[in-house]
Amino acid sequence: MGHPAERHNLSTWIRKAIALLKVPADNPALTAAQFAAFSKQIPLLYFILATNMISLSLTHQGAAPDFLVVYLPVVLTSLFTLRSLIWLRGRKRERTPAEAYRQLRATNILSFPIAVVCTAWSVSLLPYGNPYQQAHVAFFMAITVIGCIFCLMHLRSAALIVTASVNVPFLVVMYLSGEPTFIATGINVILVTMAMIMILLSHYRDFRQLHESRNVLMLQQDALQEQNKAMQILSDQNLRLANLDSLTLLPNRRSFFQMLETTYGRAREAGTMLAVGVIDLDGFKPVNDLYGHSAGDKVLIEIGTRLSAISNPSLSVYRLGGDEFGLLLEGKCGEADVMALGQKVCDLIAERINIGSGMVQVTGSVGFAIYPDVGETGQEIYELADYALYTAKRRHRAGTVIFNAVQANELNRQKIVEEALVAADLDKELSLVFQPITCVDRRICIGFEALARWESPRIGQVSPAEFIPVAEHNGRITLMTRMLLERALKTAALWPESVYLSFNLSPHDLTSPENTLKIVSIVLKSNFDPRRINFEITETAVMHDFEQASASIQMLRELGAGISLDDFGTGYSSLNHVHKLPLTKIKIDGSFVRNIHTRRTSFNIVKSVLALCAEMELEAIVEGVETEEELRILENLGVRAVQGYYFGKPMTAEETLKRLALQDAQALAS
Ligand code: C2E
Ligand code: CA
Ligand code: CA
Repeated sequence: MGHPAERHNLSTWIRKAIALLKVPADNPALTAAQFAAFSKQIPLLYFILATNMISLSLTHQGAAPDFLVVYLPVVLTSLFTLRSLIWLRGRKRERTPAEAYRQLRATNILSFPIAVVCTAWSVSLLPYGNPYQQAHVAFFMAITVIGCIFCLMHLRSAALIVTASVNVPFLVVMYLSGEPTFIATGINVILVTMAMIMILLSHYRDFRQLHESRNVLMLQQDALQEQNKAMQILSDQNLRLANLDSLTLLPNRRSFFQMLETTYGRAREAGTMLAVGVIDLDGFKPVNDLYGHSAGDKVLIEIGTRLSAISNPSLSVYRLGGDEFGLLLEGKCGEADVMALGQKVCDLIAERINIGSGMVQVTGSVGFAIYPDVGETGQEIYELADYALYTAKRRHRAGTVIFNAVQANELNRQKIVEEALVAADLDKELSLVFQPITCVDRRICIGFEALARWESPRIGQVSPAEFIPVAEHNGRITLMTRMLLERALKTAALWPESVYLSFNLSPHDLTSPENTLKIVSIVLKSNFDPRRINFEITETAVMHDFEQASASIQMLRELGAGISLDDFGTGYSSLNHVHKLPLTKIKIDGSFVRNIHTRRTSFNIVKSVLALCAEMELEAIVEGVETEEELRILENLGVRAVQGYYFGKPMTAEETLKRLALQDAQALAS
């Protein structure tokens, strides 16, 4: 035995050689591909074997015994035919890699006995033939082995087995014959088959590589497809998320406007109707403020669920943001249908909601606009519906309003006012009047409320009830407030110290710290005693942004000014606000005074608000007192301060001075 390294080399060579004679089992996909290519050639292989065998038997008829040239060839060729028929029949059938492997292995094993039998048969004919016939045997063996190598090209192991089991005996027999022609033939065939084996091996390698690279390509394609699929899923998901409100899972504002354009286009083309609805919750903010944001979320989710329950193919529901929802109704959109839908929506919203820690209730207002009655574009229909909602909120608390001619006029007028206001020279055109606030007991004026007046050269006298909301809308209110406050303070400086100034602030003045700071600085600059100023705020200011508004109010309180909650009873009247804010006064709205002697509810409301004020140590001022009778009833209820035409209409600055002078004179006289 040689060197251990050589031994090692030898054993790896043997292992490699054995591996060459086996069907590879490590690559099922390759096996399947081999099988597919191979199965086409197997019948040809049997054809070569059979025809060569028949031809050799024929040349040896009579010379060799019948057993060798008749019976055995008949049996073998029949077997070959049968095998090739079986292969031909099963050619089309799909095979699993495992089945393919088994069949290749069977062929591999079978190739050895077939090669041995054929070789033994042809060699056994040699002694019977003349030199020509012997040459035919040599030719048979050479040509058959070459044919077999060709046909077994895709099953390397079988090709090698056949080559080895034919060529070795062939060379031996040729050599033993001692005949130089035969020896030369033997060597010749060996060289040719060796060359062929080389070709076969390289072909097999190519086949394997081709197959592998195709596999890699296929894997890459598969991976690419998978990636595309994943990307598609992701982009579908993104699209869905982008169009969905994550809290309520209703389609969001974006999809509302997309759908609005689609449905509007459809309605215009088909000449059908379309109703656009905008819903806003009343009393949602207090829930958020009082119970926290998670309670607010629960309310929105619950309302979203209730509303989506009424959606159908012609009615879709959206969340537009905050506490606002949208509706698109196609088809049957008569006023009665739309009103009924609005009522249904309001009823659904008004049902009590469980927020875990208790039950809460909110209400909803709905504004609708119906195409083709109004609207030239989808966006316009929406804006008109929004205006109808604004009207609903102003007038019909928790009700439905369909945009109609009345609002069209209002909107038109608003546009005219807006245009005039934009062009206005505020310094020249704005002025102030002052309405006395009277102490009921002593019948004397204890203060004046400053009220804005606008005389437009274009459209004449405009009520503040009309232009203040427009100025709030276009932002000019900030400038107005500053200008009016400076003037009011100048006038108030002329009053005796016992008379205070009441000044109206807009929500805008409270919703940004800069605006409030500016108010503070104007007061400080004026040198007017801040304790003689009372700022009137409405609930809407507080509703809008409670945190900021209460911070602003706190700032004004620290300055020393008083704060009144104006128009009490007309807004959300959430006692929560009264409770949480550092207020000093409450102004009970004039609408409760009207017919207080005949309307029991008004009487009761005023009575309970007065009780509330007493409890919270807040001063109560009743507005809009016009008659002696109203005053008498209020006096009996214990009202200390009133405001209204009975004691004085809003008056100019000079008139306030006259009034105060008169009052002084009267006091001196009595
Ligand atoms: P308000 O603050 O509730 O002011 C009271 C309104 O009721 C005033 O209308 C006043 O003239 C009117 N009024 C007073 N007594 C009586 C009465 O006995 N009977 C009747 N029927 N009405 C009475 P005005 O001046 O038209 O103001 C309307 C609203 O405009 C005000 O309501 C206030 O909200 C707003 N406003 C007025 N001036 C200003 C201002 O300078 N700034 C801001 N932000 N808002 C203002
Ligand atoms: Ca007021
Ligand atoms: Ca008021």
